[in-house]
Amino acid sequence: MMHTVTDAIYRDVPRNPRGQPNAMLRALYREHLADPRRQTTRQGLWIAVLVYVLFSISDLLLIPDVASITVTTRFIISAIMLAAMEWQVRRGGSADAIDATAALALVLAYGGWVSTALLTAQTEIMSYYMVFGAIFMMSIGLFFNFSFRLSLIASAIIVLLFFFALLSFPQDEQVYKLTFGIFCLSCFIFTSYVNWKLNHERYHVFLNALAAKARQVEAAERGEELLRLSNTDPLTGLANRRAIDATLRESWRKWQSAATPFAVFLIDVDFFKKYNDYYGHLDGDRCLVRVAGALRDLSTRHGAALGRYGGEEFIVVVGLNRDEDVAAFAEVIRGAVEGLALRHEQRRDGTATVTVSVGAALTKDGSAPRVEKVIHQADRALYSAKAAGRNCVKLFDPDDPNNSDDSENIAALLKIAIAQDLVSMVYQPVQDLSGGQTAAVEALMRLRMLDGAPISPSTFIPVAERTGAIIELGQWAIRRACEDILVRDKALVVSVNVSPLQLQMPGFAAWVALTLSEFGIGGDRLAFEITEGQDLEIQSSLLRCISDLKSLGIKIWLDDFGTGFAGLSWLRLIDFDCVKIDKSFLHGSGTSKGAVMLTDIVTLARNIGARILVEGIETEEHLALLHRLQVDLGQGYYLGRPAPVSTMRARMSGYARA
Ligand code: C2E
Ligand code: CA
Ligand code: CA
Repeated sequence: MMHTVTDAIYRDVPRNPRGQPNAMLRALYREHLADPRRQTTRQGLWIAVLVYVLFSISDLLLIPDVASITVTTRFIISAIMLAAMEWQVRRGGSADAIDATAALALVLAYGGWVSTALLTAQTEIMSYYMVFGAIFMMSIGLFFNFSFRLSLIASAIIVLLFFFALLSFPQDEQVYKLTFGIFCLSCFIFTSYVNWKLNHERYHVFLNALAAKARQVEAAERGEELLRLSNTDPLTGLANRRAIDATLRESWRKWQSAATPFAVFLIDVDFFKKYNDYYGHLDGDRCLVRVAGALRDLSTRHGAALGRYGGEEFIVVVGLNRDEDVAAFAEVIRGAVEGLALRHEQRRDGTATVTVSVGAALTKDGSAPRVEKVIHQADRALYSAKAAGRNCVKLFDPDDPNNSDDSENIAALLKIAIAQDLVSMVYQPVQDLSGGQTAAVEALMRLRMLDGAPISPSTFIPVAERTGAIIELGQWAIRRACEDILVRDKALVVSVNVSPLQLQMPGFAAWVALTLSEFGIGGDRLAFEITEGQDLEIQSSLLRCISDLKSLGIKIWLDDFGTGFAGLSWLRLIDFDCVKIDKSFLHGSGTSKGAVMLTDIVTLARNIGARILVEGIETEEHLALLHRLQVDLGQGYYLGRPAPVSTMRARMSGYARA
């Protein structure tokens, strides 16, 4: 509606100010003015009647002989017309009808007065007194806000009455009648013209005000639309990160001022990259829209705020105050997505539908000085959920070492570790169990704090992987291992642990090739250990990287075999040169069941055709057992602890090959 009005105004106002007024606008104008018109006409008539009645005094002074009749007429007409108008007003009569009554009152007032005043014998005086007829015309045209048509009709009747009175007036002088007639006509023309002009002006003032209002509404609508767009994620229609950040801040403010607690849930679609790669981006988008829809339904039901936080990550903010409720709500979220039963055949974890991992954090007294910290906590919880095998929910647990403040300190430390010389490498021998020689050494990273205190790799490696610092540290480790061991010929082969992040880094194999040629050493002297169970999705790019490394002669070892769920499928896809059986198998071999398990896993690895290494040899019995099982290689404290290169002797000829 507003747009059509605006269009009409723009047509009417700027281009065609004098043109035919648009009927719709006219109607709007009349409707708009109806109430004020009723008021002004009513007020105007009361004033006009008062003045009209007061003129009884001039009747008494100028035409006393007929004053009794004129004054009575004045009172009767006034009373009748006021009563008529008041009745109309009370009945809610239209402004037009009330205006017509007022105009009729003026005509009757004039007619009543002039017809009775003419009876006077004071003809001379009356000939002057008659000039007051013009006042009636002026009040019709100028005093009231009558429409042009009404004012024209009423004034014309007065002119007619005037001429009628003039002609029946017993004053014979033609000049008098002529001048008086001309005066009256000019008054009529003049007041009618001014009335027309006033009406025109009023209408245009109204149009301009309307146009201004319409422009204001349009600007506000446009502003709202822009604001909506800038706060909406175009794919899912959910609040975008910007908008949800504002919601978070608002929740945080309430928590600070009124201690109203809230929970933050970070929701990540599991194996979404795989989904995209297999089904294509269009289906990937559709999948996100479906997940967003399920989350939206659920959020609306629970009065939660929902947004898309990044690629395949969503965020929910909701007022909750107990850990149990947070856990239950996280489970509802997870279940809602699982309930969609969207096919996802490319994941290799035994599930074939789209699922989500959920990490949640709740505001707690003294738990977080800033809102970012709550998000960070939810992010940590999400990380734990993913590490726990996905399609599960985790609440932030401050007692988890990975979630402690230390982890942030470590992240900061890792950034400066290389420059400040806080990292170093130690090497642990790998023994050929058949001949007893050192077949290789494994490079293990060490980190110490600024005060020299050591930090365990099991603490800092996960942090480095999470923050991405492992890429730089990993490259540094490879270079250092090549220099320490191969350039200085301390062992024939050095095995370096590599993180999946490194293998997924584009150009990693090329970088390794360059490093080898820089040091002038052959690829066959280097082995990379990949840990089973690490967050590694087997993608074609990863397989290509491994085959590139293999073509450089580099050996690929599978570390910690038996600890993760992916090991067997990995064995099918990757041609490992060596399988390192996790130390837990050897350490558990004291029981008969444990001994069977160790035997079974050794047999399994042997059937694959890779060399077998068992780690964690701590005693002579361990070593004897592995001899009996005819395991190829062994590693452990009993054979040699990890030590810095400075304590190692140079390699003697005759070492066996790993
Ligand atoms: P891992 O690759 O399985 O390394 C073997 C771990 O077992 C080492 O712990 C080693 O010191 C320990 N170990 C060796 N022999 C024995 C034994 O007889 N008994 C027992 N109980 N333990 C033994 P460390 O050095 O603390 O390393 C822990 C983990 O950190 C490594 O496990 C590896 O996954 C990771 N890591 C270490 N250095 C690097 C690195 O340079 N890059 C990457 N990506 N990861 C590394
Ligand atoms: Ca290792
Ligand atoms: Ca290991």
